[in-house]
Amino acid sequence: DADPNLRAEPQPDDNDRALRPQGLGEFIGQAEARANLRVFIQSAKQRDEAMDHTLFHGPPGLGKTTLAQIIARELGVNFRMTSGPVLAKAGDLAAILTNLEARDVLFIDEIHRLNPVVEEILYPAMEDFELDLVIGEGPAARTVRIELQPFTLVGATTRMGLLTTPLRDRFGIPTRLQFYTVDELHEIVSRNARKLGVPADDQGAREIARRARGTPRIAGRLLRRVVDFAVVEGDGKITRELADSSLTRLGVDHLGLDGADRRYLKLIAENYGGGPVGIETLSAALSESRDSLEDVIEPYLLQQGLIQRTPRGRMLAQKAWTHLGLDAPRTADD
Ligand code: ADP
Repeated sequence: DADPNLRAEPQPDDNDRALRPQGLGEFIGQAEARANLRVFIQSAKQRDEAMDHTLFHGPPGLGKTTLAQIIARELGVNFRMTSGPVLAKAGDLAAILTNLEARDVLFIDEIHRLNPVVEEILYPAMEDFELDLVIGEGPAARTVRIELQPFTLVGATTRMGLLTTPLRDRFGIPTRLQFYTVDELHEIVSRNARKLGVPADDQGAREIARRARGTPRIAGRLLRRVVDFAVVEGDGKITRELADSSLTRLGVDHLGLDGADRRYLKLIAENYGGGPVGIETLSAALSESRDSLEDVIEPYLLQQGLIQRTPRGRMLAQKAWTHLGLDAPRTADD
């Protein structure tokens, strides 16, 4: 029942280039991170040095890639992008690193999924801008050292806990991205509706913002779908009524939960009496990978106080029972 296109993971149809903020001044929300980055960018420029390595962590769709691109643009350097799983061999990373120009930004998405062999050569590259490459095999093997241009590594991860300590320690600027407030998303939706040429009135934009799971990527997706309904079935304007009926038809409820979220909550309620239930059990029962439950579904449910994580597993909070319209079972100490 869930429309996969409304989920937070990047999708092949991610047609969001037009809506991506270009500069730090256009970027809404994450006020603390933005203020700090402004200082670090300015300082690097004044000292004519590469900015320190930066790590963004937080759930998908909160702006990690966008901020990395903005950093490069503000620094006036090239932006190179790759991802952990793509770098299979040490040589893959070496090829990218040796092609960087001075002070370039190299963005590595999903950096927690780097092959350990590749990660190993990243350490001296980050620390001393040097590559130690092993050439040949067996007794004839030798190490050659290659000097690199100073560069800024921007890493992104949805799972800080999966990063090795030596890698984590090499980032001078670790930055956690937070879910956006409804007010921030409201501003993003209003601005993007204008860019798309379909005006949203105040209440219309707010309705989309409220149901976007705290996530700009989802706000963008929902907006595009509501625009479709406005153009085809409405009068080309986004009002609260139009947003509400469109989102309800898409299976997005008034808290912003989609079918997958509700399936998760209902499973714990109906099959496990509200929990606690282990993540592996949930993963098997829902046929969803543990990673996608932990990266995509759970962070927002936790932030909204719908579930709790306990040492013995996940539990529904009272708010989830109310939201599902179910009575919580009485416990022994009631
Ligand atoms: P991540 O790398 O964290 O998964 P992205 O940087 O790819 O997220 O952002 C996802 C989408 O949300 C993009 O379309 C981007 O333009 C939009 N977006 C993210 N942050 C903001 C923001 N602060 N203001 C406006 N749009 C944003």
